[in-house]
Amino acid sequence: MEGRQNYDLLVIGGGSGGLACAKEAAQLGKKVAVVDYVEPSPRGTRWGLGGTCVNVGCIPKKLMHQAALLGGMVQDAPHYGWALQPVPHDWATMAEAVQNHVKSLNWGHRVQLQDRKVTYFNIKASFVDAHTVCGVSKGGKETLLSAEHIIIATGGRPRYPTHIEGALEYGITSDDLFWLKESPGKTLVVGASYVALECAGFLTGLGLDTTVMIRSIPLRGFDQQMSSLVTEYMASQGTRFLRGCTPSRVQRLPDGQLQVTWEDPSSGKEDTGTFNTVLWAIGRIPETRSLNLEKAGVHTSPTSQKILVDALETTSVPHIYAIGDVAEGRPELTPTAIMAGKLLAQRLCGQSSDVMDYENVPTTVFTPLEYGCVGLSEEEAVARHGEEHVEVYHAYYKPLEFTVAERDASQCYIKMVCLRKPPQLVLGLHFLGPNAGEVTQGFALGIKCGASYAQVMRTVGIHPTCAEEVAKLRISKRSGLDPTVTGC
Ligand code: FAD
Ligand code: NDP
Repeated sequence: MEGRQNYDLLVIGGGSGGLACAKEAAQLGKKVAVVDYVEPSPRGTRWGLGGTCVNVGCIPKKLMHQAALLGGMVQDAPHYGWALQPVPHDWATMAEAVQNHVKSLNWGHRVQLQDRKVTYFNIKASFVDAHTVCGVSKGGKETLLSAEHIIIATGGRPRYPTHIEGALEYGITSDDLFWLKESPGKTLVVGASYVALECAGFLTGLGLDTTVMIRSIPLRGFDQQMSSLVTEYMASQGTRFLRGCTPSRVQRLPDGQLQVTWEDPSSGKEDTGTFNTVLWAIGRIPETRSLNLEKAGVHTSPTSQKILVDALETTSVPHIYAIGDVAEGRPELTPTAIMAGKLLAQRLCGQSSDVMDYENVPTTVFTPLEYGCVGLSEEEAVARHGEEHVEVYHAYYKPLEFTVAERDASQCYIKMVCLRKPPQLVLGLHFLGPNAGEVTQGFALGIKCGASYAQVMRTVGIHPTCAEEVAKLRISKRSGLDPTVTGC
């Protein structure tokens, strides 16, 4: 074991939150170290510095989503005069390009750490005591690090079902999907939240036979009317849905295919299907198990195993903090992890006393028809304020780009959830349509600043866009009038 090295600030986890925190603190003059170590997935997939978002999350996902959207544009192209024939998609080419981009980001993070004089260790860390961490390298070499402040930003990893025969042996997760060199082929996606629907969406868009197995409802926690429209559109694009089902067994057939058995709720009988790939997208487990948190006295939630934190991201130990996916009650999103990390560094360096505000965090589900939202769902607004105090303005609209291409726009829908009392504070905005992330980002600022319905209505639109439809939402649900937009 090497002699102990001392730092002002030690960050465990080189993902979105950890890197942001480390870079900020180093820029503000602290002596900082980051330790990051990627345990290969059960299928042996491994990757570099940058954490989930860069390697097995947002970045490869959005690029594969883009690949799928391009397929849609190829279909639109003849309507616009491009004499394109339907062309097959080559997974290997896409995967190599995406993986090369991810590798360039890994390298970029290494360089940025070096430039900012942050010491990087590629070691797996665990606590020895409340001020000391021991890191073990791939080769088994141990390093002792101690610091005045320790930040835990170890994120999470996909969960495998423990009780399903063959699940671990034959299934993969999002940790593997983006690094496959060959097409996954006919795929069963188990789960119904962000990861499941986004992956199923782009697999379908790339031309693969894709089925989603939902045990309860899609996109729990989101506005359920919007969620239904998301899956309705996916179904119209060819994604198959098995609802109310959970798998009981996965077996490999002699021809190499995977046979999945599940119970069909309508008949109560067992049903089977064969697939080339089974993708588990059933949630994530926080990376707290191997940290020896008890040696430092850091408390976790007995149910979620996430680290308990207060508003200042402080754990049960005053000089140990937790940010990002590993912290209890935080949204599992990259921008919240980054902002929390930066603000924590600024507080620790005495630069600011600003605390991360987790209210009104915007997000987008990158399904084939993207769903962006910020603030409360209609259900939440009604539950908090009572139906008589909530006004919902809504519209079914047709994106201009859908017209010439003769695309069906049945699910392009917007709703704004407001307080009924003038000036009608906006509680939530829900946008289903092309570029939802781009649209939602700007309106999120308005909502953060306390925008009212009256102010949104006085915002001049940009024509012709889908975003301008938000500023034209005149029909309330309560009026019962037809919310279909018919002209400019
Ligand atoms: P992570 O980014 O997970 O980083 C943690 C790091 O710590 C990892 O590198 C890990 O290997 C390392 N580590 C763990 N234990 C140890 C240890 N003991 N010692 C050393 N190192 C350790 N969010 C969005 O905002 N937009 C999206 O579009 C989006 N898409 C996603 C798509 C998918 C498929 C998934 C899975 C997630 C997606 N997310 C998205 C969520 C986003 O990736 C996470 O919220 C974000 O990465 C969390 O950052 P973090 O810093 O908390 O942890
Ligand atoms: P979630 O925890 O959000 O959802 C888990 C899903 O799996 C639910 O649909 C759940 O169903 C289902 N499920 C759980 N256990 C089982 C089981 N045993 N059998 C069948 N289904 C099961 O997990 P995700 O992995 O989708 O996402 C994790 C987080 O990552 C998200 O909360 C999000 O914050 C982040 N993320 C963000 C993205 C973005 O910003 N675009 C994209 C992807 C991820 P049920 O409702 O019945 O419990």
